[in-house]
Amino acid sequence: MRAWEKNIRKVVPYTPGEQPKDTDIIKLNTNENPYPPSPKVLNAQTQLERLRLYPDAKVSDLVNELAKYHGLKDDQVFVGVGSDDVLAMTFLTFFNSEKPILFPDITYSFYDVWADLFRIPYETKALNEQFEIIASDYYGENGGVIFPNPNAPTGLVVTLDFIKDVLDHNQDVIVVIDEAYIDFGGESARALLDAYDNLLVVRTFSKSRSMAGLRVGYAMGNADLIKALNDVKYSYNSYTMNYPSIVLGVESVKDEAYFKETVQKVVETREWFEKELTRLGFTYPKSSSNFVFATHSRVSAKEIFEKTKEAKIFVRYFDKPRIDNYLRITIGTMEEMQTLVAKLEEIVL
Ligand code: PMP
Repeated sequence: MRAWEKNIRKVVPYTPGEQPKDTDIIKLNTNENPYPPSPKVLNAQTQLERLRLYPDAKVSDLVNELAKYHGLKDDQVFVGVGSDDVLAMTFLTFFNSEKPILFPDITYSFYDVWADLFRIPYETKALNEQFEIIASDYYGENGGVIFPNPNAPTGLVVTLDFIKDVLDHNQDVIVVIDEAYIDFGGESARALLDAYDNLLVVRTFSKSRSMAGLRVGYAMGNADLIKALNDVKYSYNSYTMNYPSIVLGVESVKDEAYFKETVQKVVETREWFEKELTRLGFTYPKSSSNFVFATHSRVSAKEIFEKTKEAKIFVRYFDKPRIDNYLRITIGTMEEMQTLVAKLEEIVL
């Protein structure tokens, strides 16, 4: 080993889903939205000559639009480069205890990566056999709690009473609810913000707002938490949000009708697809998300993954304990899902 190598921060990075270059692929592997962003976004007037200037470091226009949308004050909203950026800032800002932070064993696989990167001790709590999170697992002393609601990759949602229970048992630490998929089912913990000053709710524009490529995410919480996040952000990179993201993000939030319509289409397609999965001999936890986590009684997930891939339909397979016989299938358009179902019929029937 060369002398300087011992001072390199060694991390095992998060592995994102494949982004193939081919355009003739049915892409159901990274939970993107199959519909385009709102026409208001597509027709927005960005004055690209303004790229000469630094963007607004406070991201005031987007913060203000989101605050209005959620009935909050501007100082209760923090915006970042996708919710990954917001979550990374959250880990850095709030998880500084010597006690371990807690999250489920089967969950968003970036949490342990950030914990390792920032040297935060963590403990995972096993989901039960039905893949449910058990509230009492989070009662003990800890350095913070985080889980997605709905959880990923299971798609299962918990109630607000469940979240309240976790909060009531964790008043001395920050509890983060990652609501990347909440628009597709379930109640937002936004409703609990007035009652709990240690709650942070994180959202993204990548799924329900069809803007994964733009990279916009945000957090909602009490003003002290948001200030703490901003202090860390401004100590790291003042200008994370570029000018087009701010303009296009605002336009998206303004188009509630289109947002509701596309979310509804995804939910209806999911309901249809779940029935088809049952017909084909798959089982799955009831999804409240824009994906279904399914396993087949006879054919292995790996085999289905490989065969659908050959047919240019990409789904997500995780070669990990407990879930290596499951596929996470993003909900595409009805037409895409019909093509997938036809292929699955060939493979499993
Ligand atoms: N949280 C969860 C649970 C996710 O599945 C994802 C998507 N990979 C993210 C956060 C991050 O999404 P983004 O950075 O695109 O906002």
